Amino acid sequence: MKHWFKRNQLYLLLLVFAIAAGIGAYYYINHALENRVPPVGVNDKEEDHLSDMANSPSKNEEEQPKEDDSMRCPLDGQAVSSISQDRPLAVMIGNSPAARPVYGVADADLVYEALVEGGITRLLAVYYHGQSARIGSIRSARPYFITLAQDTGAVYVHVGESPQAETFFKEYGIDHLNEMPITRGFWRVNDRVPPHNLFSSTENMHQLAKDFNMNDKTEVSGFMFEKEVPAASEDLRKSEEIIIYYPEKYSQVKYVYQEDTDDYLRYMGGKAYIDGSKNSQLRAKNIIIQYVNTKVIDGEGRLAMAVMGEGKILVFKNGIAYEGKWSKSGLEEPTKYNDINGEEMKFPPGQIWIQIVPGDTRIDY
Ligand SMILES: [Zn+2]
Repeated sequence: MKHWFKRNQLYLLLLVFAIAAGIGAYYYINHALENRVPPVGVNDKEEDHLSDMANSPSKNEEEQPKEDDSMRCPLDGQAVSSISQDRPLAVMIGNSPAARPVYGVADADLVYEALVEGGITRLLAVYYHGQSARIGSIRSARPYFITLAQDTGAVYVHVGESPQAETFFKEYGIDHLNEMPITRGFWRVNDRVPPHNLFSSTENMHQLAKDFNMNDKTEVSGFMFEKEVPAASEDLRKSEEIIIYYPEKYSQVKYVYQEDTDDYLRYMGGKAYIDGSKNSQLRAKNIIIQYVNTKVIDGEGRLAMAVMGEGKILVFKNGIAYEGKWSKSGLEEPTKYNDINGEEMKFPPGQIWIQIVPGDTRIDY
């Protein structure tokens, strides 16, 4: 043993040296790391707070990093890994009691609801980053829905159309996918009575848009979204229940604010309003009630709605009610939704429901 030790004395000494050097290096690096300035973005809230103190609020807004916004969906403000290169789809969805539950609406980026003849409503569900394997039931076109679809530059999807819509398509050269001549990419289910049984998927409709060379336009302007919930002020009008009195009882819409999720559960005709694809109740993050001049234009009771021009809005977000104004100056000009000071409305990220209502509609809130 003693003999072995003598022979390996030099190696042992080197080993002890190496261990000591290793421990020293470990502590040195650790210490250096602790004193390093934390990387930007580790704590965004604190960073924002610090820059708030350093700059005036308006200046700070201008200096928000741009790359953050470019990775948000312009229609619902959701963070996305990439911006879709496909053109949005705006799908005409039936909403009479026989057409419920609707399918795929929970996955839409943006939803419009407006009256058609007979006191019932239809939905126009817009899909940009949103995807759904089953959307419908798909119904026929009306000019004011086609006009609303131009706000997002979407390809309008429908089956059949009113005589007024037929004229509108031709007059304005609208890109649209009509199941009536196309059929492929659409399917009918047999557990529902026609005309409430036609469906398609975002995948099929995007493919059709490509096949018919309609997928070229991709610039989507969308809405402005808030990064943080603005501080509540006592001046603001809280509103936790909103009732929209569309003319028939089964068409009346109610939204009830949910404080824990900061959104609104949707009801229709006194019942929870379900998305059949998920078998769960639909929720809106934001609700815009858009008042438009409406008139009956034919013996069938078809309506004309002035969705171009300007008018009043009521906006519901974060449990608060706001008044404002909408304006749309041209077919391809997106509708502007402004607050009472004329500034563009900002929304918390999430689905927006735009409720188009005739000017004399009673709204409780
Ligand atoms: Zn989206």
